[in-house]
Amino acid sequence: MKKLCLGIESTAHTFSVGILDFDGNIYSLINDIFIPEEGGLHPGLVREQHLNNFMKIINSALSEAQISVNNINLIAFSQSPGLGPVLKIGAWISRMLSQMLDIPIVGVNHCIAHIEIGRLKCNIEDPLTLYVSGGNTIVSAFESNRYQIFGETLDLAIGNMIDSFARDAGLQHPGGPKIEKLASKSDNYIPLPYVVKGMDLSFSGLYTAAKYLLQSGEYGKKYNLNDIAYSLQETAFGMLSEVTERALAHIEKREVLLTGGVAANKRLQSMIKYISKEHDARFEVVPLKYAGDNGVMIGWTGILRYQAEGSHTISDTIIKPKERMDQITIPWRS
Ligand code: AMP
Ligand code: MG
Repeated sequence: MKKLCLGIESTAHTFSVGILDFDGNIYSLINDIFIPEEGGLHPGLVREQHLNNFMKIINSALSEAQISVNNINLIAFSQSPGLGPVLKIGAWISRMLSQMLDIPIVGVNHCIAHIEIGRLKCNIEDPLTLYVSGGNTIVSAFESNRYQIFGETLDLAIGNMIDSFARDAGLQHPGGPKIEKLASKSDNYIPLPYVVKGMDLSFSGLYTAAKYLLQSGEYGKKYNLNDIAYSLQETAFGMLSEVTERALAHIEKREVLLTGGVAANKRLQSMIKYISKEHDARFEVVPLKYAGDNGVMIGWTGILRYQAEGSHTISDTIIKPKERMDQITIPWRS
């Protein structure tokens, strides 16, 4: 039997377990996603849901893979970055499994995992990556032994910004897909704050302005929700495209990878595809099953690190809620 890794994702809303072998063949993936009834992600509530469900998720992943826990050879878990109380759950469970089964454990940076699963599933070598999700907005590429950050948000993440606006407009979480649908029905652009500072992005002014449009006396007369959704997307995705294109022109990568939950958006896909074509770069979107947070990407990145430099000691598995991807060297790519 091939060597198997069990990967645990637990940085935010999603508790997920993936099982795969050291060649990257995937046997199972089970997700449990916290959906807030109102407001954003309350870490205490997310933690409660994950604590209530983790054993069920692990058991479902094992049974989908048709193996027992004793067949697992490596435990990988998301060690950074994320919500502290939630990261701790994945770390605790992983430490317990590693010691109980007497098998190695590896901590993984969640953002790096989003890139590595894209390299595996899209069969590409060295992409410029636009990672857009509920909690992150990062333009990154490999250089000098690290995934360097070329641009990032200075305040809200793109997914969080769209979800917050959608909530203000009375739409249920997650708002991203609903805003995409409404936006497709309009081409009436209302000017909104477009804020790119150097290579970084700021979405808070855009969010406030879009929210203000909902409260204005002209709402429902001069423009409707479709028009705001359209203008919000065009502005935010225009900003993302500008920074991605500038990074592409600067570092001359031949591949562009779009990943994270917001990668599902067809309008964003077409804009990033367009700039990739302009620069003769191959464009790939991570298959949506693996684009959002998932345990398979953690497992795969754990395998890469384990094979390159061995496991972590238990005392090295302390969570790092604020760790950036560019703080970490990547021994498997040198
Ligand atoms: P993640 O944090 O990677 O799990 O992704 C979740 C985020 O992706 C949420 O903010 C969703 O609103 C967003 N999302 C999912 N589908 C779409 C879509 N079609 N358009 C825009 N955002 C989306
Ligand atoms: Mg993510």
